[in-house]
Amino acid sequence: MADKMTAEQRHRCMSNIKSKNTKPEMIVRRWLWHEGYRYRLNVKQLPGRPDIVLPKYSTVIFVNGCFWHAHEGCDKYRLPSTNVDFWAQKFQRNKSRDERNYRLLHKMGWYVLVVWECQLEKSRRHDTLLALSRRLSQIYLDTHNARLYTPSLDEEATIQQAAEPLVPYGE
Ligand SMILES: [Zn+2]
Repeated sequence: MADKMTAEQRHRCMSNIKSKNTKPEMIVRRWLWHEGYRYRLNVKQLPGRPDIVLPKYSTVIFVNGCFWHAHEGCDKYRLPSTNVDFWAQKFQRNKSRDERNYRLLHKMGWYVLVVWECQLEKSRRHDTLLALSRRLSQIYLDTHNARLYTPSLDEEATIQQAAEPLVPYGE
């Protein structure tokens, strides 16, 4: 059967497939599900349409591709060598839009966690996912009577260190 899609249609179709159920996002979802977290996906009403929404934890998670979201200092993010101005502007727009959405969500009372694609590479995946679980437990305790929880100093230091790369604020 002949391929009747125009180039434009095909492009749209491909980018749809790409933007939904991308592999890094699936890794995070499978982990959360396995750990007993229940979530909603791509909630359209929220700024930036977060990939994963955990209402019980007042938390939204973005699983960001390093290239399109311009992950500073990351090997996967390099400015293409042609049309430099065009790309620089595009990435700057993407970055500003992300930051604006994170701020809006924060104002609405959501914790915003960002997991970068490169943090889910095989060698780093386990640590990243463990840090994510720890961060969620911490958020839960912070929002539900934190006084019952008194971590030892060591434990507290570990939690903060491990959770740091997931949080975009103050970068
Ligand atoms: Zn990266």
